Amino acid sequence: FQDNETLEKIIQELNAGGVNVVVGALDTLIDWGRSNSLWPLTFATSCCGIEFMAVCAARYDIARFGFEVTRNSPRQADVILVSGTITHKMAPVLRRLYDQMADPKYVVAVGGCAVSGGPFRKSYHVVQGVDQILPVDVYVPGCPPRPEAFLYGMMQLQRKVKIEKFFGGVNRKMKNEDMKNEE
Ligand code: SF4
Repeated sequence: FQDNETLEKIIQELNAGGVNVVVGALDTLIDWGRSNSLWPLTFATSCCGIEFMAVCAARYDIARFGFEVTRNSPRQADVILVSGTITHKMAPVLRRLYDQMADPKYVVAVGGCAVSGGPFRKSYHVVQGVDQILPVDVYVPGCPPRPEAFLYGMMQLQRKVKIEKFFGGVNRKMKNEDMKNEE
């Protein structure tokens, strides 16, 4: 499909013809495909990023889940893995990268620093959880999280994508706009 509008139009036409079953199956198929090909944006600022390298190595083999295609451009990524300490100076850069990603997009906070500031809790220079600047979908605690914990977090994201209707992205856009309005 060229774009969401084209797909939406087709679905509306199918709905008008009373073939909701086909639409439901199409939604399920798309969500299944999306959940098994989540391309992560590489974004690591400190020690949790090193653990991510271990996750990518042969022992844990993230290719089993379809996460191995890491991207350096936000425009080609589906999920941003925030691995490491986010300082206030870094926060606008992170937000800009997120804004440059195409919908539907997801955020995973990897490690204590990204979840809540970690060892830098209540310090003056570190963002006390990336959910202050991005809509986080999955939190993976740990300092650093073990590769198994990271994989478990990504599997939770897969579950979320699988049950999300393809047009659930509309809700996500609204959520992002709400966050922008709060800024
Ligand atoms: Fe480093 Fe721990 Fe922060 Fe991860 S959570 S970036 S391991 S200090």
